[in-house]
Amino acid sequence: MRPRLLAVLVALAALGSSGPAEAAIGLDIAPRRVVQGQAVRVRLRTDGPVSRVRVVVGGRMIPLHRHGGAYQAFVGTSPATRPGVLVVHVSVESGGGQQTVRAQVRVRAGDFGVRRLRVAPELLDPKLVEVERRRVAAATARPWGTPLWADPFRRPVDGPVTSGYGVRSVYNGVTRGYHLGVDFRAATGTPVRAAQRGVVVLAEGLPLSGNIVMLDHGGGIFTTYQHLSRVAVRPGRRMVQGEVVGFVGSTGLSTGPHLHWGMRVNGVRVNPLGWTAAGPLTAP
Ligand SMILES: [Zn+2]
Repeated sequence: MRPRLLAVLVALAALGSSGPAEAAIGLDIAPRRVVQGQAVRVRLRTDGPVSRVRVVVGGRMIPLHRHGGAYQAFVGTSPATRPGVLVVHVSVESGGGQQTVRAQVRVRAGDFGVRRLRVAPELLDPKLVEVERRRVAAATARPWGTPLWADPFRRPVDGPVTSGYGVRSVYNGVTRGYHLGVDFRAATGTPVRAAQRGVVVLAEGLPLSGNIVMLDHGGGIFTTYQHLSRVAVRPGRRMVQGEVVGFVGSTGLSTGPHLHWGMRVNGVRVNPLGWTAAGPLTAP
């Protein structure tokens, strides 16, 4: 790393550059067009020394990690992301001062549909949402820095999808937002497998998710496995792809045995199926 940096500085001196050098910025964003629920990879290369790099999207700062000689960040979208143009602001501080570059991502509205469910009224208490939010916030507070994967994620069970991502959920006649995950039909007791290499950060019972396992895959990416009949792991354990995290059940806010598979990308709940194919999100 250091010898290359010196080479760049020497080259600049040879060109007769006077004063502090501005680092040239190369920005690579993929994909440039998404549907709500998909994520975007931001890669940034600089050819000179930098003291600080920031990525801001929609007023939120997105954490970066090192990837080879570049900086990388993942940006999630969801049904809450306004369709149209999403602007990615990148600022780089170096000896030459601060530079800002912008790039645009086109976000298309998803056509997700509506589902109507009947559940025990006590499960619709907003306090339960708050209990879950706090536990998830604690579990995701210290994310693993660099991605632990270099290939596509796999579906955690083989069953068919019974409720897709983004469907508007109406419980007992009241709209309760969007279904921010994917439901698979599977019999109680079916093994649920880690979608990707990761570290267990949550494995317990919650009022709405039921028995839940959450894995940290690095790079700000977390997956959840919910409504389990039983969890099979403890926090802190390193998992390889395909290892059993628990077993299908119907605990928490659930109307029958199924697996709810969720994914968070730096706090935004995205469609995990977007990570099961080869592409910019799952490439090394
Ligand atoms: Zn679900």
